[in-house]
Amino acid sequence: MSYDFDLFVIGAGSGGIAAARRAAEYGAKVGLAEAGRLGGTCVNRGCVPKKLMVYAANFTEMFEAAPGYGWSPIESTFDWPHLIDAVEAEVTRLNGIYQRMLDNSKVQLFRSYASFVDEHTLLVGDEKVTADKILIAVGGRPVRPEIPGIEHTLTSDDIFLLKDKPRRMVILGGGYIGCEFAGVLHRLGSEVTQIIRSDKILRGFDDEIRGEVQTSMEQAGIHLMTNSKVMSIKKVDSGVDVMVCTEHGKEHIFADAVSLAAVGRRPNTDKLGLENTGVELTAGAIAVDDHSATNISNIFAVGDCTNRINLTPVAIKEGRIFADTYFGNKPAVMAYDNVPTAVFTIPEIGTVGMTEEEAKAEYGEESIKVYRSRFRPMFYTLPNMEAKTLMKLVVHQPTDRVLGAHMVGDHAAEIIQGIAIAVKMGATKAQFDATVAIHPSSAEEFVTMR
Ligand code: NDP
Repeated sequence: MSYDFDLFVIGAGSGGIAAARRAAEYGAKVGLAEAGRLGGTCVNRGCVPKKLMVYAANFTEMFEAAPGYGWSPIESTFDWPHLIDAVEAEVTRLNGIYQRMLDNSKVQLFRSYASFVDEHTLLVGDEKVTADKILIAVGGRPVRPEIPGIEHTLTSDDIFLLKDKPRRMVILGGGYIGCEFAGVLHRLGSEVTQIIRSDKILRGFDDEIRGEVQTSMEQAGIHLMTNSKVMSIKKVDSGVDVMVCTEHGKEHIFADAVSLAAVGRRPNTDKLGLENTGVELTAGAIAVDDHSATNISNIFAVGDCTNRINLTPVAIKEGRIFADTYFGNKPAVMAYDNVPTAVFTIPEIGTVGMTEEEAKAEYGEESIKVYRSRFRPMFYTLPNMEAKTLMKLVVHQPTDRVLGAHMVGDHAAEIIQGIAIAVKMGATKAQFDATVAIHPSSAEEFVTMR
């Protein structure tokens, strides 16, 4: 049977674009549907605009440090609309780059929503197209918990569109998004209250690393309410009244007209017409095997809609591996171990491999040795600022293998990316020690820990 396309990809986010371009490079006839902007969450309302805001926020620390290095005190005011407009302009520029990349790759782009008619047929806008293989790469969207008045909250998607800087912001959730925005908004001058339901932010990260960041955030002036639950959100004249149930009773927190719900994301599978195909879901996510294949033999899925590890570089790799396997005759399987990640909190987290807790649970407490270094980086000495960096190596004693490397401090993302290569290769602590340090740097601690 002949089809209009060898491959049709639904969703032009990180995973979808990577798969479509790679398959087209192998000579496949590829179609790609996207109703929104090109680049998906990462480019339009995630990693890229967020990181630009992190850069903006980091100037406050430089201004504070400057007099220690002989500069006259820096008085500067922050122009929120300027930043929002500049970020939007950059996102638009990146959209243009994606468009040109796709044009050059001969992928046929449909600027419409696509849904399944049957397992080989899609309704794309009002046009029916058929494809031999179909890849679902539709990403996810923020969850809004069922709390009375939740409609008065923003999600992270909306922050980048705010016309004015919020003076007081309440953030629900202690995950990546909640913690990153707490830091950014605090540094840009908003009064931030972050409400989390457990005792610590960033569940799943190394416990000590979580504690270090939490303490730093609180010392910086972020009001963190732990073991607390938002009961209701009401609109009042001065903004919103957030009623919180804490360990000590009920409390009302007042914020501007906005507060941010950052309590996780869920796959965008609702309007795809999956019921017309028999594709199975697990807990709302598209269920796939190691080859990103669903239970329907010609339908595949990558990225956040599969809810494996919801990170841009993971989606890109999944997309490329899918194309290599099915169109490039280079079968491969994605490895989900030792995926490095960073959280752009203030201070930043960089991490790869097992946490101390995971390593001890897997190999037994007596098999694990933890090396750590906690220090004030040189940059903060002349301005006499209190910022600390924490680095940790989790080592399996019987083999000397480094199972995990974790860091909280400046440039953690940049440093851990390099360390991740060594951890992925199975480097031993002795090999870390045999590496000559770069001096003076913070990163050198990773090869000098005793
Ligand atoms: P996360 O899954 O990281 O965190 C969700 C947070 O919300 C947790 O603190 C969780 O608490 C809390 N929570 C969940 N349900 C409720 C509820 N009903 N009431 C109160 N609190 C609740 O989600 P995010 O939205 O922050 O981020 C989504 C994903 O996006 C991340 O997992 C990550 O993969 C990706 N991302 C990556 C970034 C990066 O790489 N730097 C940046 C931003 C996002 P508890 O811990 O108790 O479950």
